Amino acid sequence: MKAMVLDKTDKVENNPLKYRDVSIKDPKGYEVLLDIISCGVCHSNLHMIEGDWVEYGLPGKSPLIPGHEIIGKVSKLGDLVDNLKIGDVVGIQPLYQACGKCEYCITGREHLCPYGKWAGETVDGGYAENIIADSRYVNKVPDNIDYVKNSPLFCPGITAYCAVNKAELSPDKTVYIVGIGGVGHVAIQIAKLYGAKVVAVSTSKNHEELAYEMGADDVILVNRDYSNIDKYKKTADSLILFAPYEAPIMNSINFVKDGGILVQGVRGKLNYDFTTEIKLKGTKIGGRSDMDNVLRLASQGKIKIESKEYKLEDANIALQDLKHGNINGRAVLKIR
Ligand SMILES: [Zn+2]
Ligand SMILES: [Zn+2]
Repeated sequence: MKAMVLDKTDKVENNPLKYRDVSIKDPKGYEVLLDIISCGVCHSNLHMIEGDWVEYGLPGKSPLIPGHEIIGKVSKLGDLVDNLKIGDVVGIQPLYQACGKCEYCITGREHLCPYGKWAGETVDGGYAENIIADSRYVNKVPDNIDYVKNSPLFCPGITAYCAVNKAELSPDKTVYIVGIGGVGHVAIQIAKLYGAKVVAVSTSKNHEELAYEMGADDVILVNRDYSNIDKYKKTADSLILFAPYEAPIMNSINFVKDGGILVQGVRGKLNYDFTTEIKLKGTKIGGRSDMDNVLRLASQGKIKIESKEYKLEDANIALQDLKHGNINGRAVLKIR
């Protein structure tokens, strides 16, 4: 099969991913072979590929095929697979596999499993024509959703869903969503399902338009350095932070009312003062049941992904466009 392979971390402008033939084994046990239909291009892929996450041990292997928002069709079954058949369409989220036995796995929080394997980070991912998946950790994709456009449900979708659930929203609450990219544009739609007033915060005029299209009640256009936010201080009941840059990470907390909630969905240290009694909640992805809920919402037409398609061999270009803010919504690699 063909894949985009990372041998060595480097700036995406230097085209670190190489398009080449990679051999893939036959599935055994609970494994299935997937013919990949599409794979989303995540901001976290960009960080890892450029070497920003070496200090966290990522990439976890070399060479590595990145990509963790995957939809594919089952084309071969291992001998123990009893929940899938050939032709089923399934998705893989960043949590590729968990141990199934630890305190997190047995309490529905398998995405916190310390023994988890991560698609496109510690095992090969979806920038490829095929992948071996664990049949127990994939989710079936409803057949009324577009398989190419919706692979990002498997990362931005579940990330947005779990973050919004932690924001304790109701119709009398105002929530700020900071960063209207791949995740933020889904979070707006989910927050609206709670009846809350949704305010999008962004530095980009293009993202302002997208935010209104997704149902935002208001948009605050901030300067790159967040120097113009004074009049919005302490106006949010809850805030969900998805913008992975220093200025939003340092300044977002100023929007939150004393006693409010900040849900942090990106890496970075907040400028926190305990006297404000703001509740801080970290959020990463979620587990299989969260993923099923996301797929149900998409199948009912309640959330949609705004996506821009690229060919597999153009993954470097997709990453460059993402880095330079040239994508509205999410980049996806259309593989079949
Ligand atoms: Zn992702
Ligand atoms: Zn576990």
